[in-house]
Amino acid sequence: MRKPLVAGNWKMNGDRASITSLLDEMLEALETAKCDHCEVLVFPTHVYLSEVVTRLAGTVVATGAQDVDSRAVGAYTGAVSAGMVRDIGCTHALVGHSERRTLFGEDDDTVAEKYAQCLDVGLMPILCVGETLAEREADHTLDVVTRQLRAVVERVGMDGIGGGMVAYEPVWAIGTGLSATPEQAEEVHSALRDSLVSLDPAIGEATRLLYGGSVNGDNAQALFAMENVDGALVGGASLKSKSFIDICRFADASV
Ligand code: PEP
Repeated sequence: MRKPLVAGNWKMNGDRASITSLLDEMLEALETAKCDHCEVLVFPTHVYLSEVVTRLAGTVVATGAQDVDSRAVGAYTGAVSAGMVRDIGCTHALVGHSERRTLFGEDDDTVAEKYAQCLDVGLMPILCVGETLAEREADHTLDVVTRQLRAVVERVGMDGIGGGMVAYEPVWAIGTGLSATPEQAEEVHSALRDSLVSLDPAIGEATRLLYGGSVNGDNAQALFAMENVDGALVGGASLKSKSFIDICRFADASV
């Protein structure tokens, strides 16, 4: 049994005041909704991580970083290491988000190094994979996502995969309002599952596969009904407590 997880990626949004209100509203709504069967995570931008960790201490919501550097320490101006993120109390980190891959030029090897850095310091990485619209239209979706996954498997082995999660995020669905259909998501998730199971049945079955790409309170229930969709990575809808908690409720009820 895989415990569902809903993670909110706040990207470069919010300021102290808006983040404080969002967290207050979220925690209040979660107290009513309970959601005991679902894990909840938020990913604020780096500068607010410490404050969010402090605010969420002792609550059911965990805090993660949107990115970490591929190196552990040294003269890399502006970079933030996985160890630093762990040191201030984060438990998770995203690696290989499509915005990092496309806007910041991260390739599969860099993403695999970032994943390995997280494992080294005890952070749970969430590896993001996904195809562009052109790749989908050329029928390359499964090749792309399995290539992105394989780069990390080759770097950290299946034990390393067992220490993290995978989020399937079709690039064309991120921030566009155009979610993959539940069937499209399941097709990719089940291919990812098969690929992991073929390498290690126990780890492959246990690894959680999240879906991300315009998830909201209207489409979450149908996505979570899919056998291999174990939760969601949510961008836009995580910036409003109502839509985010609605998604958490559906994840909780999917168990
Ligand atoms: C994301 O950025 O990870 C994401 C899924 O964004 P959105 O939900 O806004 O599509």
